Amino acid sequence: MSSQYLLPCSCGKNLRVVAAQAGEQVACSCGKSASVPTLRELRKLEPAPPEAGSQAATGWNAWNGLIFSGGAFLCLAAIIGMFYAGVMIFRIEQSGATEDVSAVINEEEAKRVDELTPEMALSLYDDMRAEGLGHKHEPYWITYRRMAKEQQTLLIASGICLLAGLAGMVLSSRLRPKVVP
Ligand SMILES: [Zn+2]
Repeated sequence: MSSQYLLPCSCGKNLRVVAAQAGEQVACSCGKSASVPTLRELRKLEPAPPEAGSQAATGWNAWNGLIFSGGAFLCLAAIIGMFYAGVMIFRIEQSGATEDVSAVINEEEAKRVDELTPEMALSLYDDMRAEGLGHKHEPYWITYRRMAKEQQTLLIASGICLLAGLAGMVLSSRLRPKVVP
């Protein structure tokens, strides 16, 4: 870690500067800017206390850590959600189960009806009259389409969570407390 020096501002505060800033202008919290002297002059300044220096470098407190880990956790959960939804959508689409095959089914049913003998047709009619047509089933491709839609919703929600998590992680470092020497 490079050594830090205390550069006095005209307002009375000490600005923490590093050797790499030699010759540059630094802004003080009072609004003025102070010129950092050359490296040779900088070395004559009072060195910044090391423990305060390391605190300034990291600047993390419990609140920052909480936001950061919360953001990281959200990102991780979002990535898992996106991966799961992606795999599910891929599998549903690949299976071809979302394709409407009612035309094929109707054609096959019509063919079977055509092949019935009058006796068979009559007995089938009697069975239907006795038992009814049964429950109406949702065609499977409708079910698969709804499942795919649900996974798309999960994918979008996970994407929003990922952005929120990333924002939290970025924000946690921006929320670094201002070091007033
Ligand atoms: Zn100042």
